[in-house]
Amino acid sequence: MNHQGVNSGPGIAHYRPDDVENGMSTVLGYSPNARIDKTLLEKFLRLPLPEDRVQATYIWIDGTGENVRAKDRTIIGVPTSIKDYPIWNFDGSSTYQAEGSNSDVYLYPVATYKDPFRPGANNVLVLCETYKHNKEPTESNKRHACAEAMSRAADQKPWFGIEQEYTLLDMDNRPFGWPTNGFPGPQGPYYCGVGANRVFARELVEAHYRACLYAGIDVSGTNAEVMPAQWEFQVGPGEGMKCADDLWVARYILHRIAEEYGIVVTLDPKPMPGNWNGAGAHCNFSTLTMRQDNGIIEIEKAIDKLSKQHVRHIQAYDPKGGQDNMRRLTGHHETSSIHDFSAGVANRGASIRIPRGVAEDKKGYLEDRRPSSNCDPYAVCNALVRTCILDE
Ligand code: ADP
Ligand code: MN
Ligand code: MN
Ligand code: MN
Repeated sequence: MNHQGVNSGPGIAHYRPDDVENGMSTVLGYSPNARIDKTLLEKFLRLPLPEDRVQATYIWIDGTGENVRAKDRTIIGVPTSIKDYPIWNFDGSSTYQAEGSNSDVYLYPVATYKDPFRPGANNVLVLCETYKHNKEPTESNKRHACAEAMSRAADQKPWFGIEQEYTLLDMDNRPFGWPTNGFPGPQGPYYCGVGANRVFARELVEAHYRACLYAGIDVSGTNAEVMPAQWEFQVGPGEGMKCADDLWVARYILHRIAEEYGIVVTLDPKPMPGNWNGAGAHCNFSTLTMRQDNGIIEIEKAIDKLSKQHVRHIQAYDPKGGQDNMRRLTGHHETSSIHDFSAGVANRGASIRIPRGVAEDKKGYLEDRRPSSNCDPYAVCNALVRTCILDE
């Protein structure tokens, strides 16, 4: 289907309150980006750079706690460690992160990845934390506290594996490939589906998978999801900060590739109300003890601790303190109710699932199914470590 052509009319717009807040309510009927000839850039990407020049894209999380921002700079000399990347700043009053009168926010580089958009050189993506003028972390910098918890829990070698579900939208905010004036057939054939009537934009998914592996992100797999135009990729397992760092950069790469296709990625946990699956970011978690023989005892202990901290976790599992998950965690569509804590072997309607294989092996990991697709993985990993390892 030629998606550039079908939306020249007004279509059925599907606006969410946060889109209006983010100034996104007036979307174009088609994507100008999709119309640009993408082969032209290749000529210029082949031009060699001076040997002592590196193009660096600094990436950070903006004041929504959900969206990423990025800007580029040239680094002189090829850095050999993260400390060689200069601290930078940006106008926080334009990212919901500061007042105009005191607008500089600092960018502290924390991790680098190979840049899949400028391959073949020393070019990098530089993931950053944001700090206020007084060197305190900004409100949306959840990484700072997470790193502090991780360093105290390092003995237990915590591993995380996150399943990022997301939905592709056309420029009218309708799921990509859906009819403008109607709906696709009911859910059933789409999950892990194959075929032009079951999955939409696999090309984009393929490009993203490859680009992430190139960058150095530990993507462990991908699959088509239950709702048409919904997909998933998994990151991990990664120890400490690695999984959450990887996930943020994987999200950046996803938005950036989708931009080229003229497709919009939403991490909204319930993009279509009604009888359509929402989107989550299941967080699979284990400690050293859980991975050792009879680790199931430690998994059960962790579940007991989690049962007493349900509210803390719900508050940490979406960027609006639980409001986004209210729309998703209904107790239907493979979710538990936001109001109740539950756990069970192979139970996809529980807050915590013990995978069947883990119950059989009596060791392994647990799956926390509550995090919303737009969660901040730093807040999720932080809460899990504080509840299950640090006993806070
Ligand atoms: P599901 O059956 O829930 O769809 P997936 O295969 O999509 O499961 O994802 C499983 C996730 O669990 C992967 O991200 C993987 O990295 C992660 N994982 C596997 N083993 C562990 C472990 N010991 N600790 C933490 N995460 C793990
Ligand atoms: Mn999965
Ligand atoms: Mn899934
Ligand atoms: Mn899962």
